[in-house]
Amino acid sequence: MEAFFEDLGEKRFRAHQVMKWIYHRHVTEFSEMTDVGKALRAKLEARAEIRPPNVLFDKPSVDGTHKWLLGMDAGNAIEAVFIPDKGRGTLCVSSQVGCGLNCQFCSTATQGFNRNLSTAEIIGQVWVASKHLGNKTHLDRKLTNVVMMGMGEPLLNFDNVVCAMSIMRDDLGFGLANKRVTLSTSGLVPMIDRLGEESDVALAVSLHAPNDALRTELIPLNKKYPIAELMDACVRYLRRKRKGESVTFEYTLMRGVNDSPAIARELVRLMKSFANQMQYADAAKVNLIPFNPFPGTRFERSGEEEIRAFQRILLDAGVLTMVRRTRGDDIDAACGQLKGQVMDRTRRQAEFRRRLEEGAPPHAA
Ligand code: SF4
Repeated sequence: MEAFFEDLGEKRFRAHQVMKWIYHRHVTEFSEMTDVGKALRAKLEARAEIRPPNVLFDKPSVDGTHKWLLGMDAGNAIEAVFIPDKGRGTLCVSSQVGCGLNCQFCSTATQGFNRNLSTAEIIGQVWVASKHLGNKTHLDRKLTNVVMMGMGEPLLNFDNVVCAMSIMRDDLGFGLANKRVTLSTSGLVPMIDRLGEESDVALAVSLHAPNDALRTELIPLNKKYPIAELMDACVRYLRRKRKGESVTFEYTLMRGVNDSPAIARELVRLMKSFANQMQYADAAKVNLIPFNPFPGTRFERSGEEEIRAFQRILLDAGVLTMVRRTRGDDIDAACGQLKGQVMDRTRRQAEFRRRLEEGAPPHAA
């Protein structure tokens, strides 16, 4: 932004003024930027536009969760979800239109893939939510955390995601602390290393299974980057950060698939070995997510008893483990349920529909 103003023959601090109008006050008209001189406002109107994403609809849930469907180009739309909780408000942000990976338990995966989102389209999701909530950066924060956990694999859209996350954390942007911005990945090992070099956000990993046979079945990417390599990358990532920080391992519990006591004990060993390498107990946090069903899925949510028993095994072994309460499932905004509208460039969406109509297991393809 500073370079843009220099190109206009203006001082760099003008960028700071405009950033504050956009991100702190949600102003999209140059004419309303009263501390910017008239001549510069006219110049800006001729050269630039401030265009937030187009809200196709927004939907509140009975539990306070809020979902936005945001129109992109050519019939594409993505989703962002706000989840209020005690003392915090978390926005789940999308990074791609659809997703090219094919995690078997994920609704986005059934939609196929269209394209990466631009930096503007990513930060625009935060802007829309921030405006809706009446969020005031540095004054009255309604939006306290952002998780790059919506549609898409964020590390496959590296540059745009890293740039958007820097605006989330910048004082002239949304001013969030590093640890309040989390990137969640399905495990692209080389890109985790690159993220460590270029950014300082919190890391979450979609683990969902403690051994390669099961994880490859659920997350095909595991074939390329097996668990041992993934865990080594997490160790390298965390070693770059201040001692005491942790990696969150997301674990979706599916009945009869990955929720047995034997698998819980295997997960304990994996988490313990990670903590041993880091040399502090809470280096790994496990987030158990009861599976959220979507039409056509072959998986079911684990029972309440199995979920508690699984958590108990981890806790008893000293692994910090939380169960994520399901939020927003009345508006299909729960974890793993985001779909948007994807003009699919792969054949996955059509294939999924065909198998659904035929009554075959849709994800077996
Ligand atoms: S879980 Fe994430 S990476 Fe896997 S298919 Fe869904 S959106 Fe893509």
